[in-house]
Amino acid sequence: MALLHFLQAAPSAQEPVQAKALLGAFQELLRELEVAQTLVAWQEEALAAGRAEEAALHRQALERLTDFLAEAGELLRGCLLPARQLLQLLDAGCMALTLSLIPPGLDQVLVASLERSRNPELRAAIILGANADVLPRKAAQPPLLNDRERGALAQAGIELAADTPARQMAEHYLAYIACTRSHDKLLITYALNAADGKELAPSPLIQRLQKLFPALLVERYAEPREPGELTGGAESLSALARQLREEREGTPKREFWRDVHHWYAADGRWRDSLARLNQGLCFSPHQGQLAEGNRRALYGDTLRSSVSRLEKFNACPFAYFAAYGLQLAPRPVYEITPRERGDILHQVLAELGSQLYGDGPCQQELTKAQASALVGQVVTGLSPGLLSGILTSTARYRYQAARLQETLANTLLLQQEQLRCGAFAPIAWELSFGSREGDLLPPLTVELTGGRKLEISGQIDRVDVARGPGAAYARVIDYKSGNLALLPADILQGLRLQLLVYLQIVLDNPGFFAADTLKAAGLYYLAVRDELASSPMPKAGEAGSPPGLKLSGLTVKDETAVRLADPQIHGHSQLIPVALGGKGFYANSPGLTTEELQQLLGRLQEILQQTAQRMADGQTDVLPQRTPTFDACAYCDYRAFCGFDGEIKRAGGSGGEQRGA
Ligand code: SF4
Repeated sequence: MALLHFLQAAPSAQEPVQAKALLGAFQELLRELEVAQTLVAWQEEALAAGRAEEAALHRQALERLTDFLAEAGELLRGCLLPARQLLQLLDAGCMALTLSLIPPGLDQVLVASLERSRNPELRAAIILGANADVLPRKAAQPPLLNDRERGALAQAGIELAADTPARQMAEHYLAYIACTRSHDKLLITYALNAADGKELAPSPLIQRLQKLFPALLVERYAEPREPGELTGGAESLSALARQLREEREGTPKREFWRDVHHWYAADGRWRDSLARLNQGLCFSPHQGQLAEGNRRALYGDTLRSSVSRLEKFNACPFAYFAAYGLQLAPRPVYEITPRERGDILHQVLAELGSQLYGDGPCQQELTKAQASALVGQVVTGLSPGLLSGILTSTARYRYQAARLQETLANTLLLQQEQLRCGAFAPIAWELSFGSREGDLLPPLTVELTGGRKLEISGQIDRVDVARGPGAAYARVIDYKSGNLALLPADILQGLRLQLLVYLQIVLDNPGFFAADTLKAAGLYYLAVRDELASSPMPKAGEAGSPPGLKLSGLTVKDETAVRLADPQIHGHSQLIPVALGGKGFYANSPGLTTEELQQLLGRLQEILQQTAQRMADGQTDVLPQRTPTFDACAYCDYRAFCGFDGEIKRAGGSGGEQRGA
């Protein structure tokens, strides 16, 4: 076989060979094995037997394999690599091929529109809202050409999209698909009334099914409100559950529901169901503390942490315990996660930073084309290695990579415009602090009781320094794609400590920035968002407030520092969140006075100590925090596991109320 011959002819598995030659031999092997013919034959066989989905799988397998070989040929063009490594690459590439008609997993419930839910092997299907004109949907008359005009154009040989009868047929076909996908159960529901009370008719499908299966009964469900509407059984029990829940939340229970409760309690058949219901209603979030031995086994003796871990603990000790104690993590999937996307953004922006500003301030005005070219160069240099090449693995990821580059180019333009207009220059990117090998600055150390210490390590995205008359000023910048709000109240609650810790580290180490002392100028987030991708490039000084140009965060109201950041400032700055006029700072100017910043920095040690002490005590309470700008549960991976129901307002002030504390 060609591949065998090739490998036998190769000097050794370790010797470099031309990737192109090995790929050619692999393709020859596929030809010899008649892989393409076999897949086509299987496809035709499945089609002939009416197994359309199986046929689609074979077709996709062939397409994916062909695409993969074409991509591999493109990527590895001119590469010399050891044969063993190339074979591993081919192996990994073939293993990563995915088909889009994957049957649903055993533990999954799929919620999808009919157009997108043709999955085979469903155990049960539930069709919601099968009302007249909804299922099958009534195909609307096309707005531009009516069917007669379309017919005339079609006769003239002009090809048009499907007409109303054809689309109506497609809708009927979708309804047919929906009813025939599951092999165990089919449940169809329809509404009798719209939200405004208007009567609604069921879909003709219901009548049709009743004709086909005369024994089918339509069950009616309506929330019982009066004693006469109660039917008993599970339906009324769930209505009782809602009443009991409302009562726990403060709505007085009507006497009638008390009787219903007694009725269920007296009937032995409902004992278990009622017990489960009461258990659910009385559920209180887990509150706990790890025994010293367990805490040590899970976290070890050395108290080392990153700021984000401390923030996570303050946001919800249970989520912290799940993530770092139990080390529970969502099932990994082959895709770019937000975290990985963030890593790519940081990596590229740091590389761009050292290229552009490595030799000092850069006053050059960048055009969009120049920014795109710079980003393109860096991404091309990094992307084959990033995430094992996921960014180049499929057309979808290549599209995402292109979007990412666009976002990065705009971010670079924003950053350049902010820097060009002021005197601050980036001095460091991805500046690591801690006691790990390679850390450039020492950790932030917090003294704890019993002579113990907590060491905090981390990485600062960017530090800018400006030299003013008599003093040097520093500001810390974090690249962020999510929530950009930074409120002192959130810092005091320990939810957003990152920037303040970074600032403390910078102020503690002026020598690293070639200064005797450093004064604080601000703590900022720089927006890295997808929406920026299509925004026109803003220019400082243009009328209005260009989107994304202004940094978010907290500015220190020191006039010298503010004028270094924005020499043109007159009123509300377009570059940083502050307002400064001829008579000083506006009364309503955002920002912190120097004294307020000192107070915050003073409280920082205290907050870190308290957090570390609770961590050291092994606290694992389900105690999520929520503020106007922060919700611990919003993107939490442990929702299904912690048992916390954010909707339940608990009597006695636990749970939901505590979140706003
Ligand atoms: S969902 Fe909320 S309560 Fe549950 S672990 Fe996450 S943050 Fe904590």
